[in-house]
Amino acid sequence: MNIMTFDIEEWWHFDVYSTEDKWAHYKPRIELYLPLVLDKLEEKGVKASFFCLGWIARTYPDIIKRISARGHEIACHTDMHLFVKDMRPEFFREDLHRALDSIENVTGAKVKSFRAPAFTITENVKWAFEVLAEQGIEYDCSIFPTSRSYGGFPSFGEGKPTLINYKGNTIKEFPINSGKLLGKYFVFSGGGYFRLFPYWLIKHLLKQSDYAITYLHMRDFDFDQPRFNYFNMERTFKSYYGLKNAYSKFLKLMNDFQWVNIEQADKMIDWNNVRKIDL
Ligand SMILES: [Zn+2]
Repeated sequence: MNIMTFDIEEWWHFDVYSTEDKWAHYKPRIELYLPLVLDKLEEKGVKASFFCLGWIARTYPDIIKRISARGHEIACHTDMHLFVKDMRPEFFREDLHRALDSIENVTGAKVKSFRAPAFTITENVKWAFEVLAEQGIEYDCSIFPTSRSYGGFPSFGEGKPTLINYKGNTIKEFPINSGKLLGKYFVFSGGGYFRLFPYWLIKHLLKQSDYAITYLHMRDFDFDQPRFNYFNMERTFKSYYGLKNAYSKFLKLMNDFQWVNIEQADKMIDWNNVRKIDL
């Protein structure tokens, strides 16, 4: 099964140095690609999951309404795009509550799925699963089962749907998948990795996978977005490489494969037969 998901945030939210006081001075760009993406999904009859910031729901409620009106799942991506690994449990509880409130106020529907910014539910913040369960989250998509710049959970094991038990709370986990080429495993289905790898390789790896989940952003498609000056080659490369071709790669993905969202995937999985782990 292939799961199509997007993180709904502005082009600046990925920037860890970009604090809220600066956001008002940036020019919004999310509308440049969102209508095109929604039309393409509709053309192919695909329902996707959209992980939205609470901030987006308060600032551009109309965006959430339009995505929801087209039958997609509206999910949560925290309130202000802060890293869960840097939060204390009380702070995360408040942030999540505010985000869910803001999103549910717009859609009128209970949010069931969550993804942490930059996959920052790490081995040190397992308590996050208790907070998610408390607030009615059933599906988590925050596990990146290898290490990465800010997040990652290398001890998680295989990137396949898994039942997580943490202190009696059960969460259905949809981790990021990886593909194998020349004996090495790597992530290819979202963000900078999706922009980096050529389409033939992504297609090859997807064909081999029996489970895959994307994580795409409107900024992944937006070549003309303003650039932050990182004075760091690696960070600049990861942030901006491959923007020019990413949208045409997305169109190919849509044409070549079948896609479902998290809620549809949940119904396709026999949860009695997946791996169960106690964290
Ligand atoms: Zn994000």
